[in-house]
Amino acid sequence: MNQRASNLPPRAQRFEPYQVERLRQAFPILAQRIYGKPLVYLDSAATSQKPQAVIEAMSRFFLEENANVHRGVHYLSLRATEAYEQARIKVQRFLNAGHAEEIVFVRGTTEAVNLVAQTYGKTHVRAGDEVLISAMEHHSNIVPWQMLCEQTGARLRVAPIDDAGELLLDELERLIGPKTRLLAVTHVSNVLGTVNPIRRIVELAHARGAAVLVDGAQAAPHLKLDVRALGCDFYALSGHKMYGPTGIGALYGRRELLEAMPPYQGGGDMILSVSFDETLYAKPPQRFEAGTPNMVGAIGLGAAVDFLAGLDAGALAAHEQAVLAYAQQALAALPGLRLIGTAADKVGVLSFVLDGVHPHDIGTILDREGIAIRTGHHCAQPLMQRYGLAATARASLGCYSSEQDIDALLAGLVKVREVFR
Ligand code: PMP
Repeated sequence: MNQRASNLPPRAQRFEPYQVERLRQAFPILAQRIYGKPLVYLDSAATSQKPQAVIEAMSRFFLEENANVHRGVHYLSLRATEAYEQARIKVQRFLNAGHAEEIVFVRGTTEAVNLVAQTYGKTHVRAGDEVLISAMEHHSNIVPWQMLCEQTGARLRVAPIDDAGELLLDELERLIGPKTRLLAVTHVSNVLGTVNPIRRIVELAHARGAAVLVDGAQAAPHLKLDVRALGCDFYALSGHKMYGPTGIGALYGRRELLEAMPPYQGGGDMILSVSFDETLYAKPPQRFEAGTPNMVGAIGLGAAVDFLAGLDAGALAAHEQAVLAYAQQALAALPGLRLIGTAADKVGVLSFVLDGVHPHDIGTILDREGIAIRTGHHCAQPLMQRYGLAATARASLGCYSSEQDIDALLAGLVKVREVFR
């Protein structure tokens, strides 16, 4: 048999129609017991668990393909390069981008936003200009813009939200003025679960000549994405939130914008030629990928994209919405519990506070029941301030989450109530 063909990754496993119990078996970590109790993992918004196919693709890379990319003429280097560039094409298809060159591998959403701020931002934003964000942004879509504004003398403006956690589109529209160079907004809030109407937001921004960056960290695991339909200029995602590994993510940028942008970091692999007098930079995406990249991470991200493609997207969304509705109803019935984030269009992120109980105590008591949730400010302190809170408890769903997980959460919360009666 042709050696190359035998080493091709297996066809993506398909899980149709949606069978959550079968799907859970693809995630080995979920079979664990914690303190003797079955693991109930409700912290997928912090990081998702990884399917066997992702773990295997990454170990296969180290076992059979590892060499540095874009450098060697030898067999393994060519093979590693092919695998790395194939992963880029997979991400391109996942986002429905027009060209593979529009996909830049980065460490994750945080690096993607910093890259755009320090390249596109530095060349387009001047003193007196404005950068617009929303009140529901993660720190990684706030701080890089604050840094840019400090460096350039530009002003950061913030579009408000209502109590349900929906963006006030009229206010947002009002805030996009002739000085607005860039609008950076999250597709899905990591605290509220709100899905923002990105297409409409892009229309409003483009009508006034502002570019749009979308933080897709929380959207990628839940929504079918299409950057061309959304019309955005930049889209950022993190592999680890979408069933892939940590340390890898992608930045989509429209080709003409990337081509006009200066490099982010200097080093190997991002140049055409170097002399002490002059260095010529490579074209995108290499221009933005200085140094040896996270090759195995890209392979893992490619496998995660294959995994997601193997799910029936409609069935996955219907399943997640059913578990979300079940959870919202069950939690709302608990005395003294207040849900934070009740937008009409939202994904499976359930933030809540319980009267008289600190969120950290909720998290600690649930932990002893084998239930993993997140507590704290969720890297969104300005959003917490908007609700007058220091912290919330947050249960977040993944493709493997089930109504049994919610039953366990509810039983755990009843125990919390008993402790704090
Ligand atoms: N944006 C949102 C909405 C997020 O939830 C996160 C991660 N919590 C980030 C950005 C940052 O992602 P990363 O830490 O993977 O760079």
